[in-house]
Amino acid sequence: KKLQESIKEKRPAWSFEYFPPKTAVGVRNLYDRMERMYELGPEFIDITWNAGGRLSNLTCEMVATAQSVYGLETCMHLTCTGMPREKVDEALEDAYKAGCQNILALRGDPPRDVEKWEQTDGGFRYSKDLVKYIKDKYDDYFDIAVAGYPEGHPDDEEDADANIRYLKEKVDAGATFVITQMFYDVDNFLDWVKRCRKAGIDVPLIPGIMPIQSWDAFLRRAKWSGVKIPQHFLDALEPVKDDDAEVRLRGTKLMVEVCKKILDAGIYQLHFYTMNLEKATKMILEGLECEASPGDLPWKPSLGLKRKEEN
Ligand code: FAD
Repeated sequence: KKLQESIKEKRPAWSFEYFPPKTAVGVRNLYDRMERMYELGPEFIDITWNAGGRLSNLTCEMVATAQSVYGLETCMHLTCTGMPREKVDEALEDAYKAGCQNILALRGDPPRDVEKWEQTDGGFRYSKDLVKYIKDKYDDYFDIAVAGYPEGHPDDEEDADANIRYLKEKVDAGATFVITQMFYDVDNFLDWVKRCRKAGIDVPLIPGIMPIQSWDAFLRRAKWSGVKIPQHFLDALEPVKDDDAEVRLRGTKLMVEVCKKILDAGIYQLHFYTMNLEKATKMILEGLECEASPGDLPWKPSLGLKRKEEN
């Protein structure tokens, strides 16, 4: 199934991102986790694509398994890094055969140990070129998503709105929805959404939500993706930084607030960077469900979570 219609519905919904594990045991564990997380009722799941196509067979295999064995609607990431056209063709063919109809088209990160991104011979320069290529080859068979950066992209040297102009180009090339980089500054995200709308970007803009698992991971991920940490996050988390469970509890509260603000603004699809873990994502969903005022939010009946008062 293509996702562009279901994600426009006006009811809260969520999706989960996973990445291909490095070992066979890791893959087995992840399948178990995906099966358990199926109970949380994700609208779709997506599987990342490693830089340079490393583990790309595994991405394709996981997409096929999620789609056919677990019946999860999937979105396959695909990047331009180290990918000549023939490799892109193979990946698209695999997705097609697996019944996957959604591709997140990305330029990709540079391969590990390489600082600056370089175009591969016979490959693509920007993600918009990949979007166009998929569109030309498969017409409307795939829904194509692209990445958005509410706080700009680390490689950008231009003005703050450059990333919105580039995003518009990707949408004009054929993208039907956008998934954003993680962020903690929700006010900035909501302002960015307004600026995108003003620039004529009219497809769904899906916020990337990064659950907070531990103090170190929290700092590392913010630094790695170049996003701001609002002061009240630091005030809440730093005093308990050595206690992972407490960081997770407080972090959940902060991320529930972020998600509520987004839902209140009428944006209903939340995209969780699960980091292949279950607990912190589940805690946010539980926190949201317990705190939503009945009638306000038409919670999805298929959600396997119980309301607090029923526990
Ligand atoms: P593009 O939109 O092509 O942009 C690349 C750079 O070029 C940016 O600096 C942009 O500002 C600039 N640019 C774009 N258009 C123009 C133009 N017309 N003129 C001049 N400059 C321009 N990486 C992976 O390797 N695998 C993954 O699975 C993966 N999944 C991701 C999922 C999400 C939701 C997000 C937000 C990112 C993901 N990434 C992934 C990271 C992403 O590949 C990197 O951030 C990458 O550096 C940029 O990819 P892009 O598709 O946004 O590139």
